[in-house]
Amino acid sequence: MNSNKSHQEIGRELDLFTFSDLVGSGLPLFTPKGTVLRKTLQNYIEDILEDAGYEFVSIPHIGRKKLYEVSGHLEKFSEDMFPAMESKGREYILKPSNCPHHIQIFARYPHSYREMPVRLAETTTQYRSEQSGELEGLTRVLGITLDDSHVFARPDQIKEEFRIALEINKKMLDDFKLDYWIRLSCWDPDNKNKYLGDEKHWEETQKLMEEILNELKIEYKKVLGEAAFYGPKMDLMIKDSLSKEWQLSTIQVDFNLPERFDLTYIDANGQKKRPIILHRATFGSYERFIAMIIEHFQGAFPVWLSPIQVAILPISDKHLDQAKKIADELRKKGVRTQVLNKSDTLQAKIREATLQKMPYLGIIGDSEIEERSISIRTREGEDQGKMDLSQFLKRVITEIEKKV
Ligand SMILES: [Zn+2]
Repeated sequence: MNSNKSHQEIGRELDLFTFSDLVGSGLPLFTPKGTVLRKTLQNYIEDILEDAGYEFVSIPHIGRKKLYEVSGHLEKFSEDMFPAMESKGREYILKPSNCPHHIQIFARYPHSYREMPVRLAETTTQYRSEQSGELEGLTRVLGITLDDSHVFARPDQIKEEFRIALEINKKMLDDFKLDYWIRLSCWDPDNKNKYLGDEKHWEETQKLMEEILNELKIEYKKVLGEAAFYGPKMDLMIKDSLSKEWQLSTIQVDFNLPERFDLTYIDANGQKKRPIILHRATFGSYERFIAMIIEHFQGAFPVWLSPIQVAILPISDKHLDQAKKIADELRKKGVRTQVLNKSDTLQAKIREATLQKMPYLGIIGDSEIEERSISIRTREGEDQGKMDLSQFLKRVITEIEKKV
Protein backbone atom coordinates (compact mmCIF):
# COMPACT_ATOMS: atom_id res chain seq x y z
CA MET A 1 0.00 0.00 0.00
CA ASN A 2 1.22 3.49 -0.77
CA SER A 3 1.21 5.35 2.47
CA ASN A 4 1.87 8.96 3.32
CA LYS A 5 1.27 10.48 -0.07
CA SER A 6 0.03 14.06 -0.01
CA HIS A 7 -3.38 14.96 -1.42
CA GLN A 8 -1.62 16.94 -4.17
CA GLU A 9 0.26 13.84 -5.32
CA ILE A 10 -2.79 11.57 -5.17
CA GLY A 11 -4.97 14.28 -6.74
CA ARG A 12 -2.63 14.27 -9.74
CA GLU A 13 -2.51 10.46 -10.02
CA LEU A 14 -6.28 10.15 -9.81
CA ASP A 15 -6.79 13.27 -11.99
CA LEU A 16 -9.09 14.99 -9.48
CA PHE A 17 -7.94 18.62 -9.66
CA THR A 18 -5.34 20.88 -11.20
CA PHE A 19 -3.89 24.36 -10.84
CA SER A 20 -3.06 26.88 -13.54
CA ASP A 21 -0.54 29.70 -13.30
CA LEU A 22 -2.85 31.87 -15.36
CA VAL A 23 -5.81 31.29 -13.04
CA GLY A 24 -3.63 31.67 -9.95
CA SER A 25 -2.46 29.66 -6.98
CA GLY A 26 -5.00 28.96 -4.28
CA LEU A 27 -7.65 28.60 -6.98
CA PRO A 28 -8.07 24.86 -7.63
CA LEU A 29 -9.72 23.66 -10.84
CA PHE A 30 -11.68 20.45 -10.35
CA THR A 31 -11.53 18.01 -13.26
CA PRO A 32 -14.52 15.85 -14.36
CA LYS A 33 -13.51 13.13 -11.86
CA GLY A 34 -12.90 15.63 -9.05
CA THR A 35 -16.25 17.21 -9.78
CA VAL A 36 -17.97 13.83 -9.47
CA LEU A 37 -16.43 13.56 -6.01
CA ARG A 38 -17.58 17.08 -5.09
CA LYS A 39 -21.10 16.46 -6.39
CA THR A 40 -21.30 13.17 -4.51
CA LEU A 41 -20.43 15.03 -1.30
CA GLN A 42 -22.87 17.81 -2.10
CA ASN A 43 -25.79 15.47 -2.87
CA TYR A 44 -25.01 13.48 0.26
CA ILE A 45 -25.07 16.45 2.63
CA GLU A 46 -27.92 18.31 0.95
CA ASP A 47 -30.15 15.24 1.29
CA ILE A 48 -29.38 15.12 5.02
CA LEU A 49 -30.03 18.85 5.43
CA GLU A 50 -33.31 18.62 3.55
CA ASP A 51 -34.45 15.75 5.78
CA ALA A 52 -33.55 17.86 8.83
CA GLY A 53 -35.86 20.68 7.68
CA TYR A 54 -33.32 23.01 6.04
CA GLU A 55 -34.49 25.01 3.01
CA PHE A 56 -32.16 25.97 0.17
CA VAL A 57 -31.39 29.49 -1.00
CA SER A 58 -29.05 31.03 -3.60
CA ILE A 59 -27.03 34.20 -3.29
CA PRO A 60 -24.52 36.10 -5.46
CA HIS A 61 -20.81 36.23 -4.63
CA ILE A 62 -20.50 39.97 -4.06
CA GLY A 63 -22.36 42.48 -1.94
CA ARG A 64 -22.26 46.21 -1.24
CA LYS A 65 -19.50 47.48 1.02
CA LYS A 66 -22.19 48.76 3.38
CA LEU A 67 -23.34 45.18 4.06
CA TYR A 68 -19.95 44.43 5.62
CA GLU A 69 -19.90 47.65 7.57
CA VAL A 70 -23.14 46.60 9.24
CA SER A 71 -21.97 43.00 9.75
CA GLY A 72 -18.71 44.17 11.34
CA HIS A 73 -16.54 42.24 8.86
CA LEU A 74 -14.81 45.43 7.72
CA GLU A 75 -14.05 46.36 11.31
CA LYS A 76 -12.76 42.99 12.57
CA PHE A 77 -11.94 40.87 9.53
CA SER A 78 -10.71 43.24 6.80
CA GLU A 79 -7.14 41.83 6.78
CA ASP A 80 -8.55 38.55 5.46
CA MET A 81 -10.83 40.16 2.86
CA PHE A 82 -10.29 41.16 -0.74
CA PRO A 83 -10.37 44.96 -1.03
CA ALA A 84 -13.55 46.65 -2.21
CA MET A 85 -13.98 47.18 -5.95
CA GLU A 86 -15.58 50.24 -7.39
CA SER A 87 -18.02 49.91 -10.23
CA LYS A 88 -20.19 52.67 -11.66
CA GLY A 89 -20.14 54.71 -8.49
CA ARG A 90 -20.78 51.86 -6.03
CA GLU A 91 -18.39 49.79 -3.96
CA TYR A 92 -18.71 46.03 -3.83
CA ILE A 93 -16.91 43.33 -1.88
CA LEU A 94 -16.27 39.69 -2.71
CA LYS A 95 -18.09 37.91 0.11
CA PRO A 96 -15.85 36.83 3.00
CA SER A 97 -18.81 34.92 4.50
CA ASN A 98 -22.34 34.02 3.53
CA CYS A 99 -24.08 35.06 6.75
CA PRO A 100 -24.92 38.69 5.81
CA HIS A 101 -26.65 37.62 2.55
CA HIS A 102 -28.62 34.85 4.29
CA ILE A 103 -29.58 37.32 7.01
CA GLN A 104 -31.09 39.58 4.36
CA ILE A 105 -33.20 36.67 3.12
CA PHE A 106 -34.55 36.13 6.65
CA ALA A 107 -35.17 39.87 7.00
CA ARG A 108 -37.27 40.12 3.81
CA TYR A 109 -40.52 40.09 5.84
CA PRO A 110 -41.40 40.02 9.56
CA HIS A 111 -41.57 36.42 10.78
CA SER A 112 -44.09 35.23 13.34
CA TYR A 113 -42.87 33.16 16.33
CA ARG A 114 -44.89 30.34 14.76
CA GLU A 115 -42.64 30.29 11.67
CA MET A 116 -39.47 29.89 13.71
CA PRO A 117 -37.00 28.36 13.39
CA VAL A 118 -36.08 29.32 9.84
CA ARG A 119 -33.28 27.10 8.54
CA LEU A 120 -31.52 28.35 5.40
CA ALA A 121 -28.86 26.31 3.64
CA GLU A 122 -26.68 26.67 0.58
CA THR A 123 -23.57 25.16 -0.94
CA THR A 124 -21.61 28.24 -1.89
CA THR A 125 -18.13 29.73 -1.96
CA GLN A 126 -16.71 32.51 0.19
CA TYR A 127 -13.38 34.23 -0.37
CA ARG A 128 -10.40 34.86 1.83
CA SER A 129 -7.34 36.84 0.89
CA GLU A 130 -4.05 35.10 1.78
CA GLN A 131 -0.38 35.74 1.14
CA SER A 132 0.56 33.65 -1.90
CA GLY A 133 3.25 31.88 0.16
CA GLU A 134 0.55 30.59 2.51
CA LEU A 135 -1.45 28.89 -0.23
CA GLU A 136 -1.09 25.14 -0.34
CA GLY A 137 -2.92 22.52 -2.42
CA LEU A 138 -6.55 22.28 -1.40
CA THR A 139 -5.87 23.04 2.25
CA ARG A 140 -5.21 26.79 1.92
CA VAL A 141 -7.25 28.30 -0.90
CA LEU A 142 -8.74 31.66 -1.78
CA GLY A 143 -12.26 30.33 -2.42
CA ILE A 144 -13.73 28.24 0.40
CA THR A 145 -16.87 26.27 -0.41
CA LEU A 146 -19.18 25.37 2.45
CA ASP A 147 -22.46 23.59 2.97
CA ASP A 148 -23.25 26.75 4.87
CA SER A 149 -26.45 27.03 6.86
CA HIS A 150 -28.00 29.60 9.14
CA VAL A 151 -30.78 28.83 11.57
CA PHE A 152 -32.81 31.76 12.87
CA ALA A 153 -34.30 30.56 16.13
CA ARG A 154 -36.18 31.78 19.20
CA PRO A 155 -34.11 31.58 22.40
CA ASP A 156 -36.23 28.62 23.60
CA GLN A 157 -35.35 26.72 20.39
CA ILE A 158 -31.61 27.18 20.32
CA LYS A 159 -30.68 24.05 22.31
CA GLU A 160 -32.75 21.79 20.07
CA GLU A 161 -31.32 23.42 16.93
CA PHE A 162 -27.81 22.96 18.27
CA ARG A 163 -28.59 19.30 18.94
CA ILE A 164 -29.93 18.79 15.39
CA ALA A 165 -26.85 20.48 13.90
CA LEU A 166 -24.53 18.32 15.99
CA GLU A 167 -26.40 15.15 15.02
CA ILE A 168 -25.96 16.01 11.32
CA ASN A 169 -22.22 16.46 11.74
CA LYS A 170 -21.91 13.29 13.79
CA LYS A 171 -23.82 11.29 11.19
CA MET A 172 -21.37 12.47 8.54
CA LEU A 173 -18.40 11.46 10.70
CA ASP A 174 -19.93 8.01 11.21
CA ASP A 175 -20.64 7.57 7.49
CA PHE A 176 -17.02 8.48 6.70
CA LYS A 177 -15.77 6.41 9.65
CA LEU A 178 -13.71 9.29 10.98
CA ASP A 179 -12.34 9.71 14.50
CA TYR A 180 -12.94 13.10 16.03
CA TRP A 181 -12.90 15.19 19.13
CA ILE A 182 -14.82 18.32 20.00
CA ARG A 183 -13.20 21.67 20.58
CA LEU A 184 -15.17 24.46 22.21
CA SER A 185 -13.47 27.51 20.71
CA CYS A 186 -13.90 30.46 23.05
CA TRP A 187 -12.69 34.03 22.81
CA ASP A 188 -9.37 35.21 24.14
CA PRO A 189 -10.25 37.15 27.32
CA ASP A 190 -6.87 38.96 27.13
CA ASN A 191 -7.55 40.26 23.63
CA LYS A 192 -11.21 41.29 23.72
CA ASN A 193 -10.96 43.98 21.04
CA LYS A 194 -10.61 41.26 18.38
CA TYR A 195 -14.28 40.45 18.86
CA LEU A 196 -17.67 42.08 18.37
CA GLY A 197 -20.20 42.48 21.17
CA ASP A 198 -20.03 42.87 24.91
CA GLU A 199 -18.47 40.67 27.55
CA LYS A 200 -21.84 39.67 29.05
CA HIS A 201 -23.09 38.19 25.76
CA TRP A 202 -19.85 36.32 25.17
CA GLU A 203 -19.76 34.79 28.64
CA GLU A 204 -23.47 33.89 28.40
CA THR A 205 -23.13 32.30 24.97
CA GLN A 206 -20.07 30.29 25.96
CA LYS A 207 -21.91 29.12 29.09
CA LEU A 208 -24.95 28.14 27.01
CA MET A 209 -22.79 26.10 24.60
CA GLU A 210 -21.13 24.33 27.53
CA GLU A 211 -24.56 23.60 29.02
CA ILE A 212 -25.77 22.10 25.74
CA LEU A 213 -22.67 19.93 25.38
CA ASN A 214 -22.96 18.75 28.99
CA GLU A 215 -26.66 18.06 28.59
CA LEU A 216 -25.97 15.99 25.48
CA LYS A 217 -23.22 14.24 27.50
CA ILE A 218 -20.60 15.15 24.94
CA GLU A 219 -16.98 15.47 25.98
CA TYR A 220 -15.14 18.52 24.74
CA LYS A 221 -11.97 20.50 25.20
CA LYS A 222 -12.21 24.23 25.83
CA VAL A 223 -9.64 26.27 23.89
CA LEU A 224 -9.21 30.02 24.27
CA GLY A 225 -8.67 32.37 21.33
CA GLU A 226 -10.16 30.17 18.58
CA ALA A 227 -13.65 31.78 18.43
CA ALA A 228 -15.03 33.58 15.36
CA PHE A 229 -15.06 37.35 15.78
CA TYR A 230 -18.85 37.32 16.24
CA GLY A 231 -19.24 34.33 18.55
CA PRO A 232 -17.85 31.14 20.11
CA LYS A 233 -17.68 27.97 18.00
CA MET A 234 -17.89 24.28 18.49
CA ASP A 235 -15.40 22.65 16.11
CA LEU A 236 -15.19 19.00 15.21
CA MET A 237 -11.52 18.12 15.01
CA ILE A 238 -10.79 15.07 12.88
CA LYS A 239 -7.90 12.66 13.05
CA ASP A 240 -7.26 10.94 9.73
CA SER A 241 -5.77 7.48 9.12
CA LEU A 242 -2.26 8.99 9.29
CA SER A 243 -3.06 10.69 12.64
CA LYS A 244 -3.05 14.13 11.04
CA GLU A 245 -5.52 16.55 12.61
CA TRP A 246 -7.99 18.62 10.60
CA GLN A 247 -10.51 21.22 11.72
CA LEU A 248 -13.74 20.61 9.84
CA SER A 249 -17.36 21.03 10.90
CA THR A 250 -18.34 24.00 13.00
CA ILE A 251 -21.44 25.11 14.87
CA GLN A 252 -21.65 28.66 16.20
CA VAL A 253 -24.19 30.37 18.43
CA ASP A 254 -24.43 34.05 17.59
CA PHE A 255 -26.17 36.89 19.43
CA ASN A 256 -24.15 39.60 17.72
CA LEU A 257 -25.21 39.61 14.07
CA PRO A 258 -28.97 39.57 14.91
CA GLU A 259 -28.31 42.70 16.98
CA ARG A 260 -26.22 44.46 14.33
CA PHE A 261 -28.80 43.77 11.60
CA ASP A 262 -31.65 44.56 14.02
CA LEU A 263 -33.34 41.22 13.25
CA THR A 264 -36.69 40.55 14.90
CA TYR A 265 -39.60 38.16 14.98
CA ILE A 266 -43.08 38.82 16.37
CA ASP A 267 -43.84 36.92 19.59
CA ALA A 268 -47.22 35.59 20.84
CA ASN A 269 -48.06 39.03 22.32
CA GLY A 270 -47.32 40.89 19.11
CA GLN A 271 -44.00 42.17 20.49
CA LYS A 272 -40.78 42.33 18.49
CA LYS A 273 -38.17 39.89 19.80
CA ARG A 274 -34.54 39.24 18.85
CA PRO A 275 -33.78 35.83 17.27
CA ILE A 276 -30.48 33.97 17.73
CA ILE A 277 -28.48 32.75 14.74
CA LEU A 278 -26.88 29.34 14.61
CA HIS A 279 -24.18 29.14 11.95
CA ARG A 280 -23.34 25.61 10.90
CA ALA A 281 -21.34 23.77 8.23
CA THR A 282 -20.66 20.05 7.98
CA PHE A 283 -17.79 20.22 5.52
CA GLY A 284 -15.95 23.16 7.12
CA SER A 285 -14.64 23.63 3.58
CA TYR A 286 -15.21 21.29 0.64
CA GLU A 287 -11.67 21.93 -0.53
CA ARG A 288 -10.10 20.99 2.81
CA PHE A 289 -12.54 18.12 3.32
CA ILE A 290 -11.60 16.68 -0.07
CA ALA A 291 -7.89 17.05 0.77
CA MET A 292 -8.56 15.25 4.06
CA ILE A 293 -10.47 12.31 2.57
CA ILE A 294 -7.91 11.92 -0.21
CA GLU A 295 -5.15 11.56 2.39
CA HIS A 296 -7.32 9.57 4.80
CA PHE A 297 -8.21 6.94 2.17
CA GLN A 298 -4.94 7.48 0.27
CA GLY A 299 -7.08 7.73 -2.86
CA ALA A 300 -8.73 4.32 -2.37
CA PHE A 301 -12.19 5.77 -1.72
CA PRO A 302 -15.05 3.54 -0.60
CA VAL A 303 -17.21 2.53 -3.56
CA TRP A 304 -19.92 5.18 -2.93
CA LEU A 305 -17.33 8.00 -3.13
CA SER A 306 -15.19 6.70 -5.98
CA PRO A 307 -15.43 8.88 -9.10
CA ILE A 308 -15.28 5.66 -11.16
CA GLN A 309 -16.83 2.70 -9.35
CA VAL A 310 -16.37 0.02 -12.00
CA ALA A 311 -13.76 0.12 -14.75
CA ILE A 312 -14.72 -1.98 -17.78
CA LEU A 313 -11.73 -3.56 -19.51
CA PRO A 314 -12.23 -5.15 -22.94
CA ILE A 315 -9.52 -7.76 -23.49
CA SER A 316 -9.10 -6.60 -27.10
CA ASP A 317 -10.76 -4.26 -29.59
CA LYS A 318 -13.25 -6.89 -30.72
CA HIS A 319 -14.74 -6.87 -27.20
CA LEU A 320 -15.13 -3.11 -27.14
CA ASP A 321 -18.76 -2.94 -28.30
CA GLN A 322 -19.90 -5.36 -25.62
CA ALA A 323 -17.83 -3.48 -23.01
CA LYS A 324 -19.60 -0.26 -23.96
CA LYS A 325 -23.01 -1.96 -23.73
CA ILE A 326 -22.24 -3.24 -20.25
CA ALA A 327 -20.98 0.18 -19.17
CA ASP A 328 -24.28 1.69 -20.37
CA GLU A 329 -26.24 -0.88 -18.44
CA LEU A 330 -24.32 -0.13 -15.25
CA ARG A 331 -24.65 3.63 -15.80
CA LYS A 332 -28.43 3.35 -16.18
CA LYS A 333 -28.53 1.71 -12.73
CA GLY A 334 -26.59 4.63 -11.26
CA VAL A 335 -23.16 2.99 -11.19
CA ARG A 336 -20.28 5.21 -12.38
CA THR A 337 -18.23 3.41 -15.00
CA GLN A 338 -15.51 4.02 -17.53
CA VAL A 339 -14.43 1.81 -20.40
CA LEU A 340 -10.64 1.67 -20.45
CA ASN A 341 -9.48 1.41 -24.02
CA LYS A 342 -6.45 3.66 -24.18
CA SER A 343 -3.82 0.93 -23.92
CA ASP A 344 -3.28 -2.11 -26.12
CA THR A 345 -2.78 -4.86 -23.60
CA LEU A 346 -5.01 -6.06 -20.82
CA GLN A 347 -2.08 -5.82 -18.41
CA ALA A 348 -1.69 -2.11 -19.18
CA LYS A 349 -5.42 -1.53 -18.70
CA ILE A 350 -5.33 -3.32 -15.35
CA ARG A 351 -2.36 -1.19 -14.35
CA GLU A 352 -4.18 2.03 -15.29
CA ALA A 353 -7.35 1.14 -13.33
CA THR A 354 -5.32 0.01 -10.33
CA LEU A 355 -3.22 3.20 -10.27
CA GLN A 356 -6.39 5.26 -10.38
CA LYS A 357 -7.72 3.20 -7.43
CA MET A 358 -10.93 2.21 -9.21
CA PRO A 359 -12.60 -0.24 -6.79
CA TYR A 360 -13.73 -2.84 -9.35
CA LEU A 361 -12.22 -3.92 -12.65
CA GLY A 362 -14.66 -5.78 -14.90
CA ILE A 363 -12.93 -7.73 -17.67
CA ILE A 364 -14.79 -8.61 -20.87
CA GLY A 365 -13.58 -11.26 -23.30
CA ASP A 366 -15.07 -14.01 -25.52
CA SER A 367 -16.33 -16.31 -22.76
CA GLU A 368 -17.80 -13.38 -20.77
CA ILE A 369 -19.75 -12.25 -23.85
CA GLU A 370 -21.03 -15.76 -24.46
CA GLU A 371 -22.16 -16.26 -20.84
CA ARG A 372 -23.34 -12.68 -20.17
CA SER A 373 -20.91 -12.53 -17.30
CA ILE A 374 -18.08 -10.33 -16.16
CA SER A 375 -14.71 -11.25 -14.63
CA ILE A 376 -14.07 -9.18 -11.54
CA ARG A 377 -10.79 -8.06 -10.06
CA THR A 378 -10.44 -5.60 -7.19
CA ARG A 379 -8.01 -2.68 -7.06
CA GLU A 380 -6.13 -4.65 -4.40
CA GLY A 381 -5.38 -7.23 -7.11
CA GLU A 382 -7.76 -9.93 -5.89
CA ASP A 383 -9.20 -12.05 -8.70
CA GLN A 384 -12.86 -12.72 -7.83
CA GLY A 385 -13.58 -14.78 -10.92
CA LYS A 386 -16.50 -14.77 -13.31
CA MET A 387 -19.79 -13.44 -12.09
CA ASP A 388 -23.25 -13.11 -13.53
CA LEU A 389 -23.67 -9.45 -14.58
CA SER A 390 -26.94 -8.92 -12.68
CA GLN A 391 -25.49 -10.50 -9.57
CA PHE A 392 -22.44 -8.21 -9.70
CA LEU A 393 -24.65 -5.18 -10.30
CA LYS A 394 -26.74 -6.01 -7.23
CA ARG A 395 -23.62 -6.29 -5.10
CA VAL A 396 -22.23 -2.92 -6.23
CA ILE A 397 -25.56 -1.15 -5.70
CA THR A 398 -25.81 -2.57 -2.17
CA GLU A 399 -22.30 -1.37 -1.39
CA ILE A 400 -23.12 2.12 -2.68
CA GLU A 401 -26.32 2.27 -0.61
CA LYS A 402 -24.57 1.02 2.54
CA LYS A 403 -21.64 3.39 1.96
CA VAL A 404 -19.06 0.64 2.47
ZN1 LIG B 1 -22.46 32.19 9.03
